[in-house]
This record gives sequence, C-alpha cells and structure tokens, in this order.
Amino acid sequence: MAVEVHKFGGTSVSSVDGLRTAVRVAEDGGVVLVVSAFAGVTDELERLVVEAASGGAVDPGVPLSLCEERAEELGVAEDGEVREVLGEVGDLLRSVVVILRQLGRPDPRLRDLVLSVGERVAARVVAAFLRSEGVEARAFDSWDIGLVTSDQPGNADIVRWEGTRGLVEGLVEDGVVPVVTGFIGRSVGGYVTTLGRGGSDYTAAVLAGVLGSDAFIWTDVDGIMTADPGVVEAEVVPRLSYEEAVIAGASGAEVLHPKAVEAAMNMGVVIRVGNSFTGRVGTVVCEGSPPGPKVVAHRLDVVLLTVRGAKMVDEPGVIGRITSALGDAGVNVLAISSAVSEPFVNVLVSEDDAEAAAGALDGLEGYDWGLREDVGVVTVVGRGVDPSLVRVEGALVGCSALEGVAYTVVVPEEDVEGVVRGLARVVTRSLRSSVGGGRG
Ligand code: ASP
Ligand code: MG
Repeated sequence: MAVEVHKFGGTSVSSVDGLRTAVRVAEDGGVVLVVSAFAGVTDELERLVVEAASGGAVDPGVPLSLCEERAEELGVAEDGEVREVLGEVGDLLRSVVVILRQLGRPDPRLRDLVLSVGERVAARVVAAFLRSEGVEARAFDSWDIGLVTSDQPGNADIVRWEGTRGLVEGLVEDGVVPVVTGFIGRSVGGYVTTLGRGGSDYTAAVLAGVLGSDAFIWTDVDGIMTADPGVVEAEVVPRLSYEEAVIAGASGAEVLHPKAVEAAMNMGVVIRVGNSFTGRVGTVVCEGSPPGPKVVAHRLDVVLLTVRGAKMVDEPGVIGRITSALGDAGVNVLAISSAVSEPFVNVLVSEDDAEAAAGALDGLEGYDWGLREDVGVVTVVGRGVDPSLVRVEGALVGCSALEGVAYTVVVPEEDVEGVVRGLARVVTRSLRSSVGGGRG
C-alpha cells in the first residue's frame, strides 16, 4: 500500500480544530504529513526582510511570538524539540536582520533563509502536538528526506528525490508519522530555497508522485470554489481537470499552486482538496472532467495596454515585435487580443509589470500606445465553455485563453464584481445540471 500524502495549510495547522483531520489520518497510519507555516507567519517574515533591508526598525520578535502563541495554544510550548527550534530560529533571525541592514537590499538567498523558518517551526510544533495525542510523529526538513531543489531563489523547483521513497516507507513501516516541511528546500548547490509563495502544495504533489499516492490538500474551505466567496455565494466544484485547475489558478482563483497541479499532472497524482476542520473532501483534481464552466476567476491587479500604429496594418511580425519587446523587458503577457483588419492590439499585463511594459513600448518606433489601469479581468474556466455564455455588457476586450477551456473578458474595474456575480450564476446552474455535478 502506498504511503498517502496529506498537506495541511497555514490555517489548518494553527489550531486544535484545524488539526483534527491530521490527528485522524495520523492515528490511522500509513501517511506522511506536509505542513505550511502558521497563518500569517510567512507574511511577517517577508515584512521583516523588506524592512531590515531598507534600514527600518525591525523586530524578529513579531513572527517568533506568532509561532510561540501557536505552540502554546497547541499545548506543546514546553516540548524539547519545539523549544530548541524556537531558540535556533530566534538566533538566526537576529543575525540575518543585522546582515540585511548592513547589505541594504533584500538579498534573495537571505530572504529564502528567513522565510524557511516558518515551515521549520511548524513541522516541529505539529509533530509535538501529534505526539501529545499519542501518535509517534517525527519532524523532518524536506532535505532530511532527500528532496533537492534547483538553485533558483524564491521560486525553486524540486529536481531530485534520491532515496526519498525508501526512507519514508521505512519510517512508516516502523510506525512513525513523518511531518515534513512544505515550501522550503535545499538546492543542488546547498542553499536553502523556497518554492514560491503557496508552494507547500507543490511539495505535497511531488512527494505524492514519488510515493505513488494521492495528494490530500487540507485547507479551511470545503474545496475549490466556483468563485470568490467574498464576492458571491459560491459552491464547491466537485471535479476539475489538471488543465482547468492550472488556468483557474493563473487567472486569479484561490486554488492550488499552479506548480503543484503541473507536478501532479506530470507524475499522475490525483489531488483531493478538503476542509481539515470538517474532514470533508470537496474537490478532486485529476485527468479530465465533465464538460462545462466550473470556476469564475478574477484579478484586479492588471493593466490594459492598447498598442496602435500605421505599421500595424498588413505588416508581418507586428505582434511578434510587441511581445518580444515586452519579453525582453521581463514582462509576462497575461493575455493578448487583436481583431482582423484592425490596427491595434490589446495586451494585458500585471500591475507590477506596468512600468517595464511602458518602457519597452516606448522603445518601439512607429507605435502609439495607451494604458488603462482601472480595469479588471474575469475568466470563466471549464472545458467546453460556450463563449455565448460569457457575453458581458461593457466588456473592453474578450479573448479565449486556451481553445475551449477558458474565456476571458477585460472590464472596467468597477464592473468586475457584478460580472463575477452574473457569471457565477451561469456556472452554478451548469454544475447542477451536469452529470457528476450537483452540490459539491
Ligand atoms: N508558508 C508559505 C506561504 O505562505 C507556503 C504555503 O503556505 O504554502 O506562502
Ligand atoms: Mg495555499
């Protein structure tokens, strides 16, 4: 029997209620757990890096006391291993802060070192908590079980896992429940790395691939939702294909980390997303899904560039020149559209890339361009989405993201919520009527 992988997110590891499912699966045995940092800790660590690098008054005590509070709440503040790791990371943070202030810039490798602290503490605290519940749990850093990443700071990939399977299976056979850090790694070159924010999902997906099991992703909602529950009454989507999950994530939906879905797809891992507070699994992500719209995703952090110029009519390679100028400037083009015979092209980029994009377009001779900041983008994801469902009044641009899987509209920012609500109704109706659909 393959060892099952169960990953617990930041909210799930932060309270006894959130850890209820962890206790249950650990008691049943045959599992390895992957954990995120406690809720809010990675954000605080990130802030620490930025503030220290800019010479501000910084206090490593803030993220540390967040960790201590959780350890106390879980009743394991006096556990030897917990005390040891808290002491160790306290020393580490104080030293790194001094170095960052002296450097005067947020060095990416030091950032990774600081961020790694969140998961390292959480793994020790969760293991101690499980021990206090009578489970033989033991904490491991991802490198202790043989996972090796690329050297790329901030967004490393897991590239090697020699001996991992044998090691984990051996522990499990001996009745141990390994509790492994998500999100962080050690690289080929020996550096501490991180896998990208939200990257614990990715650790879990790779580990499941290595062990030949499913990946259970436990969070604080019932699964992947039809839309942002903060905007509209959303429902759980019972099943999504890998392709749909990647696109939904990239389009702004709060779902799995896209790298996790990609790894799962490549390694043949079925992902099950559930609520650790209730123990209920709401969404399965796997190969293929029933046709129809499933998720309405939206993003407000985008700008729309409209590029025009006489040269754009009947001139080969025009779009190529625009996109390569943007690419050379390091701008990631989120969407692009142009109509036959019209001398302009619309390009959607993230707000963070707006300045670089403007510079790149200024450097192109013979083109005019304009920029709109007050826009948002709404994407309906689902294989076989009928574009007539996505007829949105007042849309500035519409385009198909990937034939038959997603349809995107750019609308004025103030219309985004209304558009999301309208489209979410379409999705809900479709899910209810589709085979295998219905209420989560
Ligand atoms: N703790 C990391 C983050 O907040 C990784 C994760 O939660 O998946 O981004
Ligand atoms: Mg997450």
